[in-house]
Amino acid sequence: MSNVEAHPAEVLCRSEGLPGPDSACADGAPVELITSRDVPLGGPRAMLVRRTLPQRQRSLIGAWCFVDHFGPSDVRDTGGMDVAPHPHTGLQTVSWLFEGAVAHIDSGGGVGTVVPGEINLMTAGTGICHSETSTEGTTTLHGVQLWLALPDAVRNSLGRAFEHFEPQPVTFDGGSALVFIGSLLGAESPVSVYSPLVGAELRLEPGAVVDLPVDPRFEHGLLVDSGDVTLEGVELTPGTLGYTGIGSERLRIAHTGGGAEAAPARLILIGGEPFEEEIVMWWNFIGRDSDEIAQYREQWQAEDDRFGRVEGYVGHGGPGRDPDGRSRLPAPTLPNVRMRARKNPPPHVQSTD
Ligand code: MN
Repeated sequence: MSNVEAHPAEVLCRSEGLPGPDSACADGAPVELITSRDVPLGGPRAMLVRRTLPQRQRSLIGAWCFVDHFGPSDVRDTGGMDVAPHPHTGLQTVSWLFEGAVAHIDSGGGVGTVVPGEINLMTAGTGICHSETSTEGTTTLHGVQLWLALPDAVRNSLGRAFEHFEPQPVTFDGGSALVFIGSLLGAESPVSVYSPLVGAELRLEPGAVVDLPVDPRFEHGLLVDSGDVTLEGVELTPGTLGYTGIGSERLRIAHTGGGAEAAPARLILIGGEPFEEEIVMWWNFIGRDSDEIAQYREQWQAEDDRFGRVEGYVGHGGPGRDPDGRSRLPAPTLPNVRMRARKNPPPHVQSTD
């Protein structure tokens, strides 16, 4: 997926502290509520995605630095997804669908179809480009795309990579989990990540109250896709990301919906050790300073070898074309001011008493 905002803001990370207007505390640990903003994905009818990360309040949870949540969306209304070749640096992309299918082609030779319940993980290395198009047979698109910031120690030495894994469900009292990154509930994902992380889809039965065992060194975010869900007693409406700091050994998650017609709740859990490095994130690039971002932009515009080429992109406008006739996405204009690297606000520390 591409950040297609016409004038993407540099990401400023600022400590808001607790308690604040967007934080809540019921009977458990404090939970910071990160609400989404709607961002058009591009194309003539512009499918909207709900973006919860990054934003000024908090730009990272562990190394997770980008959370787009979309659908369920009828592709007859929105045209589906067609993101023409576009670049990435300094990050990995995680594609995870609930419904639909998306064809992926990247300049590292990665070709695949993203389908529900299977992770597709693309590592940019020093630079990659890729295209993403919903398949012809897709009628409903529904899922998330997440990005992971790569640590400085590896971001300039990793090669391009594309990995795929289909986790088997792990059941627990009241629900089940598909663990696609890291380990949780005894299940482990084999895909390559470069800092301590976890990522999983959770299903919770109506009425279930679960004390999910988690790594206390991790901070966590819980994104609600569907269901009446509370985290540590705090209500999370669908589309909202609930953030908990480090120090929790268990997260109390409840599905408060009941009745004969209630369906299981669907959630995405992300977490990781706080990512202490200062980063600059602009458009589809992650770097460490303004000059680096400007260089990436210039190289993309010049079709530099840093990013390679996507072979075989077939867009919804025909072979090699998106509906707007573009064969690659041009980078937006750089902001007039130097982009400053900022540090993420320190994680909240949950008391253990
Ligand atoms: Mn992308």
